[in-house]
Amino acid sequence: MIGVGDMVLLEPLSEDSFIANLKNRFEHNEIYTYIGSVVISMNPYRSLPIFTPEKVEEYRNRNFYELSPHIYALADEAYRSLRDQDKDQCILITGESGAGKTEASKLVMSYVAAVCGKGQEVNKVKEQLLQSNPVLEAFGNAKTVRNDNSSRFGKYMDIEFDFKGDPLGGVISNYLLEKSRVVKQPRGERNFHVFYQLLSGASDDTLKKLKLDRDFSKYNYLSLDSAAVNGLDDAANFRTVRNAMQIVGFMEDEVQSVLELVAAVLKLGNIEFKPDSRSNGGDESRIKDKNDLKEMCELLGIEQSVLERAFSYRTVEAKLEKVSTTLNVAQAQAKTRHKVMGVLDIYGFEIFEDNSFEQFIINYCNEKLQQIFIELTLREEQEEYIREGIEWTNIEYFNNAIICDLIENHQNGILAMLDEECLRPGTVTDETFLDKLNTICAEHQHFESRLSKNSKFLTDHSLPHSCFRIQHYAGKVLYRVEGFVDKNNDLLYRDLSQAMYKATQSLIKQLFPEGNPAKVNLKRPPTAGSQFKASVGTLMRNLQTKNPNYIRCIKPNDKKASHIFTESLVCHQVRYLGLMENVRVRRAGYAFRQAYEPCLERYKMLCKRTWPHWRGPAREGVEVLMADLQVPTDEFAYGRSKIFIRNPRTLFFLEERRRQC
Ligand code: ADP
Ligand code: MG
Repeated sequence: MIGVGDMVLLEPLSEDSFIANLKNRFEHNEIYTYIGSVVISMNPYRSLPIFTPEKVEEYRNRNFYELSPHIYALADEAYRSLRDQDKDQCILITGESGAGKTEASKLVMSYVAAVCGKGQEVNKVKEQLLQSNPVLEAFGNAKTVRNDNSSRFGKYMDIEFDFKGDPLGGVISNYLLEKSRVVKQPRGERNFHVFYQLLSGASDDTLKKLKLDRDFSKYNYLSLDSAAVNGLDDAANFRTVRNAMQIVGFMEDEVQSVLELVAAVLKLGNIEFKPDSRSNGGDESRIKDKNDLKEMCELLGIEQSVLERAFSYRTVEAKLEKVSTTLNVAQAQAKTRHKVMGVLDIYGFEIFEDNSFEQFIINYCNEKLQQIFIELTLREEQEEYIREGIEWTNIEYFNNAIICDLIENHQNGILAMLDEECLRPGTVTDETFLDKLNTICAEHQHFESRLSKNSKFLTDHSLPHSCFRIQHYAGKVLYRVEGFVDKNNDLLYRDLSQAMYKATQSLIKQLFPEGNPAKVNLKRPPTAGSQFKASVGTLMRNLQTKNPNYIRCIKPNDKKASHIFTESLVCHQVRYLGLMENVRVRRAGYAFRQAYEPCLERYKMLCKRTWPHWRGPAREGVEVLMADLQVPTDEFAYGRSKIFIRNPRTLFFLEERRRQC
């Protein structure tokens, strides 16, 4: 074993020793390390020979701690517990962009696919589950400065199994797709893969039907400087995606509709507006060159005059056009209860120099995940203690509930205040929102104790203009309020959804149900913030019913390079993933536990009375052993089936004695 495979056993425990252990293991190609049952995964940025079918066999049906740490061990444990003990599972994967979350989710899925049932029908479902990835990635991933294949959405997939543990299908939910990317990409980044794939990979015939040109430079939405990405074959990927769509279950005409939509978006990007010279100083505008508009309308089956009107009335809103890609692979939706394994691949905590509404929302989501982590870890511990008849001692830990409350409290949480501001009549700006925040939070701070949630809303004189600061569990983050109001409103004017609803192309019609004039809803659509809050709430309730499995991904460097371990960068991630806290929670009660039989087997050589054979219950054998070795009695406790050892030191003592034998 290189270094320490389980951080719970690290002695002495400090941030330095933690990082040194990660580094040591990383340099020896050991990219996985445990914190108890949590898997830390370091991105190797190169292919390691540890994901072979032989490895799958090696980890199959083995106990978690038997082999060296591996993501397969976690996947195996989760799958077996689902199949044999009927416990629904969720796999929670977090980490910053480029840390390896999406790859990890695919490894888990492919492991489960490899070890679960066989047969023609089952194999078809497995293929569908696995092939949902290329489809989702085409529409939701893009090259960014951090990751050439960066997921621009959070993904949660429930895989459903029957009573035998054979997969039946899956349901995928998306969170917060970065739709603004369609319109504009930061320097050095690309739009979503699908646009480049389509132009590079489609046949001449298909492109002609879609009224498209192969040349990226013809389209405003496709930035030029970074169109080609090293190691990415757009044309080949197009064929993979087409094929995957078919396997997932798209009918040929549905694929066609999707491609028409993609083409229409490209056309939309080329439509330019100019001020209408006939209007006297008003906001009206006209479309410069109508060819793109005409072709877009042809693709979608919309009457040109209808769309033109919708555009010209509110020109600015054109930028809010969205592409929505929620794909459901739900297959058999019978009434019987299925076993479920949920896989969550979601953006980790983000602390940039400039943090905006998106970071605020993402970090809120991570606070919620941290809360659930604490809750579930402690609950799991507590349940095991009860099962084993061990006295429960309270664990001291930082409960981040007050931060969640600061953000989501329905009366005076930040999101509620933002909504209130967005709905208020009169002049609303980001600054008026900030004033409100400062006034209300400062008021509370004045009256309430230091431990109130408002102590997490930091006000001090060093704050730059137009900013507020929150003390998240993972660190202090400065948010700039610019854009909060607009982004939260996320308005798509009714003119546009109604124009889209008039399309004869059925897919686009389905995407704008709110455009149905028969269903005019005068209520405002929910704000982006409240929608996200609601979907996070649903997700949390869903996760709470399941047995959690954690994968914490770490990026070793920001060069997308193999073999480089940048300590400062890793340290930063270890902090905001709350890994030290994680180890402490795991060690707070009993750091180590082992069933009596294997424990006796391992240490019986240390005592004359148990060596070579102990005749009697294993538990009594272990009791004799511990007494004989004079291990202090407050260092361990006897559970129903396991011995609980409080301190890693005790375990080392036993191991050391074994070595001397
Ligand atoms: P995230 O989803 O966290 O943003 P990804 O899973 O997309 O990150 O990983 C980014 C890149 O890192 C991948 O495209 C791949 O090149 C590399 N990578 C990640 N995990 C592994 C792994 N286990 N083995 C080899 N390369 C990996
Ligand atoms: Mg990803």
